[in-house]
Amino acid sequence: MATAHSKIKVATRIRPILQGEQTDGGIQVVRDGSERSHMSVRNPRDPSQVFTFPFASCYDEASTQEEIFERDIQPMLDAVYNGIAVTIFAYGVTSSGKTHTMQGSAAQPGITPRAVEALLGRRSLMEDRDVSLSVSYMEIYKDDVYDLLVPKEKAVKLPVRENEVGEVFVANLSSEPVNTVAEFDAMYSRASKQRSVGATNLNRASSRSHAIVTVTVESVDRRSRQEMIGKLLLVDLAGSENNKHTGNDASRMAESAAINKSLSVLGQVVHALNTGASRIPYRNSKLTRILQAALGGNSLGLLICNLAPGTKFRQDTLNTLNFASRTK
Ligand code: ADP
Ligand code: MG
Repeated sequence: MATAHSKIKVATRIRPILQGEQTDGGIQVVRDGSERSHMSVRNPRDPSQVFTFPFASCYDEASTQEEIFERDIQPMLDAVYNGIAVTIFAYGVTSSGKTHTMQGSAAQPGITPRAVEALLGRRSLMEDRDVSLSVSYMEIYKDDVYDLLVPKEKAVKLPVRENEVGEVFVANLSSEPVNTVAEFDAMYSRASKQRSVGATNLNRASSRSHAIVTVTVESVDRRSRQEMIGKLLLVDLAGSENNKHTGNDASRMAESAAINKSLSVLGQVVHALNTGASRIPYRNSKLTRILQAALGGNSLGLLICNLAPGTKFRQDTLNTLNFASRTK
């Protein structure tokens, strides 16, 4: 069940039909009064059967970037200024709208640029604190970590290390100060084009890697000099499609294995956090090890499960909703 105390809320979003796609209205947002609170999906193997799942927020085809930002993201940004780590994930099969939701386009900016703009805007309202924002951007491809702010020719695999108190961090990851939205946009679009430096086939590369933007907000109280560090992590996950049939060369099998493992461990970690389990299996994947510092302790999160409405995605939709449900 979705509960008020869930640490990581779960939302769903259906993207609009793309040109040439077939749909039969098999996934739908169900209202509970005025609240869009449930998703229903027809069983692809038995269309007379309909499954219904409750979620914290359900967005249909007509929902806008602005609506999602205002309802679910904006309310969490105060926490970043209060020293809390906030993580937003986009989960779903390739083409379900993850990158649209997180990055968006110039005409329809997604969560990441909107959040940076809001965090920068808030800085100017801080009268008693000196605030600085910085950004890092990494990708995890086949369990190797790369720095997307570094030009592709210079990209090297970054080591994942642990400090004396057992905190996991990515060594040598660069970060850049951000002072204006324009500065961020330029950096973000340049770096995003570099996604999947580790892949040989660049066309499909970006859907086979996890990309993580981290915005760090550091503020110092002018009088007491007390320092506070909050973070916002924006994670565009690798495609969750069943990878068994995507090809059988060794490189693709390694890709698929890494993706399946990391997404299933992520589901277990989110479930463990949401149910207050005493043991959280961060260590079982590279992705969750890297996210441990942000997800453990004082933190908040939102997992947005993206859905493609095409008929051919029906089984994927059911898989995504089952995954999403199991994390609560
Ligand atoms: P993913 O990152 O999950 O592979 P994309 O974000 O690239 O998927 O989306 C696939 C296609 O659908 C892109 O052309 C994207 O622009 C379009 N799209 C996705 N979501 C929306 C939306 N909510 N509104 C309009 N177009 C969308
Ligand atoms: Mg994408």
